[in-house]
Amino acid sequence: MERRYLVRTFGCQMNEHDSERIAGLLEADGLAPAGEVAGADVVVLNTCAVRENADNRLYGSLGHLRPLKDRNPAMRIVVAGCLAQKDRGEIQRRAPWVDVVVGTHALPGLLELLRRSRDEGPQMDVREYTEVFPSALPARRESPHHAWVSVSVGCDNRCTFCIVPLVRGPQRSRPLGEVLAEVQRLAREGVVEVTLLGQNVNTYGRDLTVPGSARRSRFAGLLRAVGEVEGIRRVRFTSPHPHDFTDDVIAAMAETEAVCEHIHFPLQSGSDRVLQAMRRSYRAERYLAWLERIREGVPGVAVTTDVIVGFPGETEVDFAATLDVVARARFDAAFTFQYSVRPGTAAATMDGAVPKEVVQERFDRLVVLQEGISLERNRALVGETVEVLFEGEGRKGNPQGRTRTNKLVHVPGEPGEQAAAPAGTFAEARITAAAPHHLTGELRVPAARV
Ligand code: SF4
Repeated sequence: MERRYLVRTFGCQMNEHDSERIAGLLEADGLAPAGEVAGADVVVLNTCAVRENADNRLYGSLGHLRPLKDRNPAMRIVVAGCLAQKDRGEIQRRAPWVDVVVGTHALPGLLELLRRSRDEGPQMDVREYTEVFPSALPARRESPHHAWVSVSVGCDNRCTFCIVPLVRGPQRSRPLGEVLAEVQRLAREGVVEVTLLGQNVNTYGRDLTVPGSARRSRFAGLLRAVGEVEGIRRVRFTSPHPHDFTDDVIAAMAETEAVCEHIHFPLQSGSDRVLQAMRRSYRAERYLAWLERIREGVPGVAVTTDVIVGFPGETEVDFAATLDVVARARFDAAFTFQYSVRPGTAAATMDGAVPKEVVQERFDRLVVLQEGISLERNRALVGETVEVLFEGEGRKGNPQGRTRTNKLVHVPGEPGEQAAAPAGTFAEARITAAAPHHLTGELRVPAARV
């Protein structure tokens, strides 16, 4: 009987990418996807320590799996990802029915760990060093036309709220030739859009610099080189650190046609005092000046951001500074987070916890402000014709896709018209309406392939 697997992903894009690799490894071993947990021979929970309540969610899921495992002891339960890396022996102590704990650097050995767990009992590999980049493993991609490409792992910064340096270690970059070979292979397989992934993607290559020569980023060169790969029409990247967004990167974006006009530019706070406590290396005015430089250098660029509300010690004055910067920055969209403690981070031991109701009230004000700005920016596009890469059906069964600026476009219409926009195709759409989080458009008739 065919063996089946299920991978559950909790978390960030890096995790989604790892999940595709986990699925690829299991399929290379002859397993097929299972529709639900009960039908799976191998269940993988791929965890993310960055997200709120990650451990509660993990142990909750493991609790649900326990009776299934009792009924079917041959079922393998795997915990992978950042929490596996961080919590190590804790997972097997609290959930001894887990068969394999595999850290972020040990994914290539997953099949061997599974085999050994059958013969020898529970296995754990949470090594500290990446020998093989996840991208070098087989993958079962969620989309035939889009691929994640990991260009670096780890981070050399020490932002006090962030668990990444602890679980992913210092930055290690993949050699350029290896990244390019992968992108070329993806293009041959029909991929038209790649997202370059790194925890601090724009310091790519700093660790590859020849000893003795100046430490510098090679990210601009990477963007140019990937943008020239035949068949790749869109290049995206995430996540950059504002401090490392240098002029050569802006020039590479402006001069490389395939590199999309979208930048995720994490602000985190508009208060200099809080930025300092977060150990972010810029201050509000500097950030705004960089933003201006980016907008001048890359016409039509859309800018999104992250903002944390309620960092320890944040006062009403600090929060007012955040609202002020958000109002001045005019982001296209913002991912807003309520601060929550990540055990192991420097911020976890800071005094000055902000009461939950205060955080909620500030958060609500921020969301109202940003939604108004997002709506205004989207409304400015009504009447324009934009290139859309369709990615399948959205809610209500209508085709949806993304602009180069990463805005979601829904295209309602007659079934005949919609058939002209299957997933993976580019077409032009005229924007007819706007909402804070999406646009509505109509296909140019006849549908214009672009
Ligand atoms: S730069 Fe990003 S990944 Fe690195 S420590 Fe700061 S928030 Fe975490």
